[in-house]
Amino acid sequence: MNIPMVDLKSQYLKIKDEVDARIAKVIENTEFVNGTDVKEFKKELAEYLNVKHVIPCGNGTDALQIAMMSLGLVPGDEVISSDFTFIATVETIALLKLTPVMVDVDPDTFCIDPDRIEKAITPKTKAIIPVHLFGQSCDMDRIMDIAKKHNLFVIEDTAQAIGSDFTSAKGWTKKVGTIGDIGCTSFFPSKNLGCYGDGGAIFTNNDELAEKITSIANHGMEVRYYHDRIGVNSRLDTIQAAVLRAKLPHLDNYNKARRKAADYYDKAFENCSKIKTPTRAKFSTHIFHQYTLVLNNVDRKALMEHLKSKGIASAVYYPVALHNQKAFQDFKYNSKDFPVTDKLCESVISLPMNTELDDKTLKYICDSVLEFVEKNHS
Ligand SMILES: *Cc1c(COP(=O)(O)O)cnc(C)c1O
Repeated sequence: MNIPMVDLKSQYLKIKDEVDARIAKVIENTEFVNGTDVKEFKKELAEYLNVKHVIPCGNGTDALQIAMMSLGLVPGDEVISSDFTFIATVETIALLKLTPVMVDVDPDTFCIDPDRIEKAITPKTKAIIPVHLFGQSCDMDRIMDIAKKHNLFVIEDTAQAIGSDFTSAKGWTKKVGTIGDIGCTSFFPSKNLGCYGDGGAIFTNNDELAEKITSIANHGMEVRYYHDRIGVNSRLDTIQAAVLRAKLPHLDNYNKARRKAADYYDKAFENCSKIKTPTRAKFSTHIFHQYTLVLNNVDRKALMEHLKSKGIASAVYYPVALHNQKAFQDFKYNSKDFPVTDKLCESVISLPMNTELDDKTLKYICDSVLEFVEKNHS
């Protein structure tokens, strides 16, 4: 048995003819940069998300950086984000000489805890970056209310949740990434909508921000060789846009397949007191970028070894909270402020999750997990 976390090969084989033809056409037309596929993909993704503007860029990290550059923030301004996320979210804050203010997360959804956002706000706070972690939305009703009350920008990090819906208590439903001022996503191959290399995009309903973002991503230039502001060079390759155009029509089915695998896992583990299965928030669809368990008194390292010996991959997202990262030591976080993240870093484990898992494979994985957990902890 060899069961990887993601299975991009099997997924590719099902759409191979279309992907290959689209890539071949880009090469044939030598439209490598800003080609037709980039322009069409922008429109198709905007339509899918029901958002006014989609600006593609080089990767998800660039998307976050460009989004923040468009808001006119100045060094020393504080940006609030989650302590339990991939480094890119807060690395870009620090890179722009803004101050990353990390906040603990909700123990059930792993997303930023709105109560703690309120407590972290100071006169210097300018923006919040909620991260829709592992495939489900943060509590955007609460976050948007807080942002409005304190006049803060909201940049949604949607790298792990593209296609997920947030349903407001006020009655509306929107795709995550289209609720705040700006949404950012990544098309890294293993994301729910992944290309075959690096890629990313920025979304907004604000015309003025869209114009600024487009300019910043292109050397601060609207008219060729006339530069209005300091920008960067961040583009989605046409070949990547071609792949994404082939995959976007499948995204909802891909997310459905992930949910089906999650249902299987949930059921298999429901009576095991040593394993806490993922909580599904009432206000969000969960598209399971990761299927992450919280272990209760289980030797995680030994469990991972056991799974490995059975040919099953597993991973820890994330082993080190951001406040404990060496790169962030200068910010002098108070280690007592993050009890939930600290606990999660020690006790979470993610199982294989992708669009290609069948029941036989899932059964084998679940049996292998339970065999270890029950044998060692009865
Ligand atoms: C993947 C990811 C990013 C960064 O995306 P890249 O395309 O790898 O730069 C940012 N935030 C989160 C939460 C991610 O998972």
